[in-house]
Amino acid sequence: MNIVFDQAASNFGTENHPERPSRIQRSERFLRQTHADWTWISPRIASEEEILRVHSSEHLGRLRVKADFDSDTPYYEEIEDYARRAAGAAIEVVNQSLAGQRAFSLMRPPGHHATREMAMGFCYLNNIAIAGMHALHHGQQKVAIWDFDAHHGNGTESIVHLHPGIRFASVHQYPGYPGTGIRSFDNVRNYTVTPGSDPALHVRKAEESLEELLTFGPDLILVSAGFDAYFDDPITDMTLSEDDFATFGRWLHETQIRSGAVLEGGYSTYLPKLIEAFLSAWEQG
Ligand SMILES: [Zn+2]
Repeated sequence: MNIVFDQAASNFGTENHPERPSRIQRSERFLRQTHADWTWISPRIASEEEILRVHSSEHLGRLRVKADFDSDTPYYEEIEDYARRAAGAAIEVVNQSLAGQRAFSLMRPPGHHATREMAMGFCYLNNIAIAGMHALHHGQQKVAIWDFDAHHGNGTESIVHLHPGIRFASVHQYPGYPGTGIRSFDNVRNYTVTPGSDPALHVRKAEESLEELLTFGPDLILVSAGFDAYFDDPITDMTLSEDDFATFGRWLHETQIRSGAVLEGGYSTYLPKLIEAFLSAWEQG
């Protein structure tokens, strides 16, 4: 397993925000302790060309304006650099996947709520969409994006909608933030789970969503791996356990399709264990 990581990802934000530096500091420490054999790779910053496949130049410029984006999504000093580094890490995940390796981006900020024109929901640049476009630009014909974060990947959906090379599936809490993702259409498949649902039902919907993506015949599966559907997550009302995230990893292993994953949400103190469970199962089956 290759972990794409840069220490700089914990140099912004505060512990008063759910999307806080300790999410990845603690995860880094735990993964290094539990898997001394895993390889750590430093990402580069995503280029303007790579970002502009997904976002407008106005949006990229907005990241330099010292004003909050919304109440969840503050302006931070040099947020453009941090966001571009997380996007570069998602690109590195694709490069590793194309070289036949499994890779996970352990970076922040997350990305799946960011739309072409807007930062929102703790997200500034859409890392997974930038990674998907990078894969298509480098010879892949069909890219599937599987989003099991507890929140709907509204930004990813809006960016990849009608793109013939991409199919997108999201399984998420509804009602819940951001309030979208109720219907499936065109190349978009949405699976909703009501708050407090039986975890077995949630797992079944996640399985359906991955099976649906497999009917697309993807060359590459990219995963928006959010761990906030955990039962003890402070900002959602879902019921998954550590074992369920391991199940997601095992399914990914069993597809035998090249795949890569990027950290999205996950705000409980168990985040390091959830990531580890997912990655270990993905690696070993
Ligand atoms: Zn989330």
